[in-house]
Amino acid sequence: MNPLFHLIAVSPVVFILYPEIGLINSLFLFVGGWLFDIDHYLYCIFKHKNFSLKDCYNFHSPYAKEKDLLHIFHVIEFYIFIFIIGIFVTPFIYLFLGLMYHQIFDLSKIIYFKIKKDPRLKNARAISLIMWIRRHSPSNSTKLKTL
Ligand SMILES: [Zn+2]
Repeated sequence: MNPLFHLIAVSPVVFILYPEIGLINSLFLFVGGWLFDIDHYLYCIFKHKNFSLKDCYNFHSPYAKEKDLLHIFHVIEFYIFIFIIGIFVTPFIYLFLGLMYHQIFDLSKIIYFKIKKDPRLKNARAISLIMWIRRHSPSNSTKLKTL
């Protein structure tokens, strides 16, 4: 999803909740709702050794140019990790809520592609870090070769 769209989507929510939840929690909510798409840029840096924001944007837009991408802040293990920290540290619950709000829009785009039977759906990112590691582990590739 477009970072500008996430920014526009989360800003009114933060603005409305700010008087109730305070500055720190609002900042965490804002970061969760918007900033965690930074993992798309991290993917470009680590996978393609490319620091260009423009190249990274073009790589991901209008859809990712590779299959089974690992966006480390968009996996279930990361959400569980943030939620567990949130049990003990209140701002992290707002970070978690921001991430879930962010996911509503990411998932709505995936559902839209699925309904439209859009081929871009095949280039979806990994949902689980553990499953991604299993798919990309050396032992898995040797198993595939022997089949
Ligand atoms: Zn996202």
